[in-house]
Amino acid sequence: MYKLIDGKAIAAEMRDEIKNAVTQFRARHGKDIGLAVVLVGENPASQVYVRNKIKACKEVGIKSFSYYLPANVTQAQLDGLISELAADNAVHGILVQLPLPDHLDADRVLSLIPVSKDVDGFSAENIGKLCLNEHCLVACTPNGVMKMLEKENIDVRGKKAVVIGRSDIVGKPMAMLLLNADATVTVCHSKTRDLKAHCLDADIIVAAVGRPKFITADMVGEGAIVIDVGINRDENGKLCGDVDFENVKEKCSYITPVPGGVGPMTITMLLFNTVTAAERSAD
Ligand code: NAD
Repeated sequence: MYKLIDGKAIAAEMRDEIKNAVTQFRARHGKDIGLAVVLVGENPASQVYVRNKIKACKEVGIKSFSYYLPANVTQAQLDGLISELAADNAVHGILVQLPLPDHLDADRVLSLIPVSKDVDGFSAENIGKLCLNEHCLVACTPNGVMKMLEKENIDVRGKKAVVIGRSDIVGKPMAMLLLNADATVTVCHSKTRDLKAHCLDADIIVAAVGRPKFITADMVGEGAIVIDVGINRDENGKLCGDVDFENVKEKCSYITPVPGGVGPMTITMLLFNTVTAAERSAD
């Protein structure tokens, strides 16, 4: 019998804790925690993400500063804004919603965000620190997965973990977090030979591929822990993950649903990172 890992419930519990931390910060330091959110252009998906992030900030009492820039903003203008926010003491976290329009250099923009305000954990320095297992701001989605495992008292030490996907924002940091927690980690990707054999051998599978129902029941061993990061649409336009949930679930000891699994954790971890950044700056 499998156990469903309820990301929505874990996220709600964490948001209560974050709300308390925000109130305590204000009482101790006499000021708000601030997050600057920068959106360039009118990508509809990005607009939804930004709206949800601002709403989540409001719910826990984090002050958000939003900047909506036109799609034709110049690199110099965007760089100028990021530099101003970098120097602003009321801003503890800076988030630039990606992707940026093609004429803008995202790496350059990210490099202007001070490492202490990089609440997305995307900067080279934060990723380097993660590899060195040093204190850092960790990318929200993989960090959310670790929190879910922790809340379920799943000790990953010594377990065989297979991460499918090697993106900079999910797969790579996910693999590094599991490694730092003493799992034995295999990273699979589009060029991996015999993915099924790797998956069948795994105690933990984290799927971050971006293909609907890609992980099928024949790829999953009995009792595996399956974490589904994917957000896709199936053939009927219904939201689904990378895992064929209905058929895979019976083989698992734990599994995350989509929606209601990893998704709700991502914004929660952004709030968590913003509070962490504020507390470190105050120290
Ligand atoms: P990406 O496209 O950057 O990376 C996909 C990875 O999958 C690549 O590394 C690629 O090598 C691998 N891959 C592709 N085909 C494969 C195959 N046949 N076999 C094995 N590996 C294969 O995607 P991403 O940004 O890492 O996102 C992955 C998924 O997670 C997407 O569905 C995305 O929407 C979702 N996502 C969810 C959240 C969340 O909050 N839950 C956050 C970020 C991304």
